[in-house]
Amino acid sequence: MRLLLVEDDMMIGESVLDALRGEGYAVDWVRDGALADTALRTERYDLVLLDLGLPKMDGIAVLKALRARRETTPVLIATARDAVPARIAGLDAGADDYVLKPFDLDELSARIRALLRRAAGRAEPVFSYGRISLNPATHEALLDGEPVALSQREWAVLEALIARPGMILSRTQLEEKLYSWKDEISSNAVEVYVHSLRKKLGPDLIRNIRGMGYMIAKEPAATRPDPDEGGTGSGTGDAA
Ligand code: CA
Repeated sequence: MRLLLVEDDMMIGESVLDALRGEGYAVDWVRDGALADTALRTERYDLVLLDLGLPKMDGIAVLKALRARRETTPVLIATARDAVPARIAGLDAGADDYVLKPFDLDELSARIRALLRRAAGRAEPVFSYGRISLNPATHEALLDGEPVALSQREWAVLEALIARPGMILSRTQLEEKLYSWKDEISSNAVEVYVHSLRKKLGPDLIRNIRGMGYMIAKEPAATRPDPDEGGTGSGTGDAA
């Protein structure tokens, strides 16, 4: 998941950035409203954490411009504890929720998970798909009830695909969810993560749709796949 952090206070920005990266999100951080507006016009984010008092363009104006473009990206506004009118103005301008400063970082993370869940059309906090379950709050992945160790980026690829079974995500769309501006992207990174996820979770889970990208089938396979039955995961034809 890729987030945009809009915060002009260096100390707050750094601590939130650290916390969110620690949770496995790819995070871009901008320190004024004009840069936030540009980022939102050029990149695709899963969620925006938006301070309201900002240099160059205030947060409400950034938010109004986003919603005027009919963008549904979830927006979490950050306001001072006593700033009730600003909070109301933010919610009425299209924000989905708010957090109070100073942040409780655990509460911030929980609100982000709740908004991401809602944006994906889910009510239940844990992803269940066939034999697999993923808990975004603990980053625990289970296969047939047994924990599976996934790297942060393997987790991110799997979460992006499992959030919308049946939807094809291109390599570029997956890269956008994995990397912030500061990260160097190696050209075959997504293929590498998909390969290791297939090794850990079964060859047939993630499908390669030639020329288009990757998807997880809308419905999980009803039974445990038989390793002798071949299947589609023989490791060939992996060029997305
Ligand atoms: Ca500020």
